[in-house]
Amino acid sequence: MPQKSSKPRYIFITGGVVSSLGKGLASASIAVLLQARGYKVRLRKLDPYLNVDPGTMSPFQHGEVYVTEDGGETDLDLGHYERFTGVEARKSDNVTTGRIYSNLIMKERRGDYLGGTVQVIPHVTDLIKEFIQSDAGGADFVLCEIGGTVGDIEGQPFLEAIRQIGYKLGKDRALYVHLTLVPYLAAAKELKTKPTQHSVKELRTIGLQPNILLCRSERAIPKSDRQKIALFCNVSEDDVFEARDAETIYEVPLSYHKQGVDEQILKHFELPVAKDVPLKNWQNIVSKIAKTTKVTHVAIVGKYTGLKDAYKSLIEAVYHAGIANDTQVELHWVDARLQDIKKLKDVQGIIVPGGFGEEGVAGKLAAARFARENNIPYLGICFGMQMAVLEAARNLAGIKDASSTEFGPTPNPVVGLMTEWVKEGSKEKRSSKGDLGGTMRLGSYPCVIKKGTLAYEVYGSTKIEERHRHRYEVNANYIPQLEKTGMVFSGMSPDGKLPEIVEIPEHPWFVGVQFHPEFKSTIFNPHPLFSGFVGAAKKVKL
Ligand code: GLN
Repeated sequence: MPQKSSKPRYIFITGGVVSSLGKGLASASIAVLLQARGYKVRLRKLDPYLNVDPGTMSPFQHGEVYVTEDGGETDLDLGHYERFTGVEARKSDNVTTGRIYSNLIMKERRGDYLGGTVQVIPHVTDLIKEFIQSDAGGADFVLCEIGGTVGDIEGQPFLEAIRQIGYKLGKDRALYVHLTLVPYLAAAKELKTKPTQHSVKELRTIGLQPNILLCRSERAIPKSDRQKIALFCNVSEDDVFEARDAETIYEVPLSYHKQGVDEQILKHFELPVAKDVPLKNWQNIVSKIAKTTKVTHVAIVGKYTGLKDAYKSLIEAVYHAGIANDTQVELHWVDARLQDIKKLKDVQGIIVPGGFGEEGVAGKLAAARFARENNIPYLGICFGMQMAVLEAARNLAGIKDASSTEFGPTPNPVVGLMTEWVKEGSKEKRSSKGDLGGTMRLGSYPCVIKKGTLAYEVYGSTKIEERHRHRYEVNANYIPQLEKTGMVFSGMSPDGKLPEIVEIPEHPWFVGVQFHPEFKSTIFNPHPLFSGFVGAAKKVKL
């Protein structure tokens, strides 16, 4: 039995040399192993940028905004955490420099620091420490990933804060993991350890000595190189691990375990190391993935197709649904701005995902129409649902100028700004002149499903809860006209005012949802909407 402690232990994960090494996956994988050993985990992300949250950041730059149950607009790494551990992430599990400073300045104005000079150390670092150590929800381990790369100016207060926590709590309650790169130089035919040495040197200058090194590498790192890294980085040889590129991300926890990462972590904390670790579910899923050969072709018609991170949870959800349906899914990326409808002839299913703004709308409407007219399974997510409804309004209901107020004033606002709605009994209000940050319908909301519909068949329930992130809604005043076209409003908000799910019963599989089901899918629990969609797509003959 693991030794429980009322006080959490902290594992800090930093990254060096280059960005995009996969710190999020490394953190999630370590958490999985601790969980398998019976410990309760919580994962947090500290982002050094100055935005208050990623909600206002362009997906082109920053990738997807991951939405939590409690309505947080957070970094996409929280998606990895939740998908791997099944632990629901919360708004309070992601903090940025912007958030820290906005709290700090509010406190300063209120007079909390009256008489004092407000400084990065100790005031900013104290707020960071408070964030890290608050509200751990009874976790045995809190894993904190620090965004960015060691050496970045913005990251320094965060590194200082985690140094202070380690200093205060001591080795028994704090551990530092550093993820680094060991590149292979083809010309020299050699793996290079110097970048890792420099990165650790950088950490040590600010008083942080990593305990564990995870070395990303395309190839096996020979023992002699690991010895070299250990010696120059002042780390035991047993604590230098290889983080090789994997066939699937679901192999990563197994690879860490095989090398003894979790064992070394437990030894550091002087916790018992059980020999038997229940990881059968992970082994089974990896071998199931390896055996999946059939391919289903699905198009994603969006605006951010150039940066796949913009659709991270969506890609994962489709992947999970594929594995559940014994098929790999090959994604065909269609840039909605190019209106490249020809490409849709080669696919068995079409997804129009979430999106913002008018650019690319014509392409998305054309995709919804193509799917509807050619009996190709269609899944419209949020904006994709609004597009399906606008398409039906224009081309079936004869409302030629049907539009969304998102694109400007319109005589027929079939999709319009939601100015008022009810959340947990209290009214939320919005106006078109309000702030853009954090003011959408965000987080989990209930939806009531009509029996006898495809949505009911998919969910097997009349009551569901899904996560939202949007400002506009399908206008319920147009329901009677839209229903005449054969479209069914199969899911509504409990007060019956907000359309949540639409479908076309005459079509083999055509569903639009106002929410984002992709945030709740995991490899062990594939989302029923995606499974249903891929299942239908798989049957389409090309
Ligand atoms: N732009 C739309 C809205 O705000 C859809 C948002 C989305 O797809 N997440 O309502």
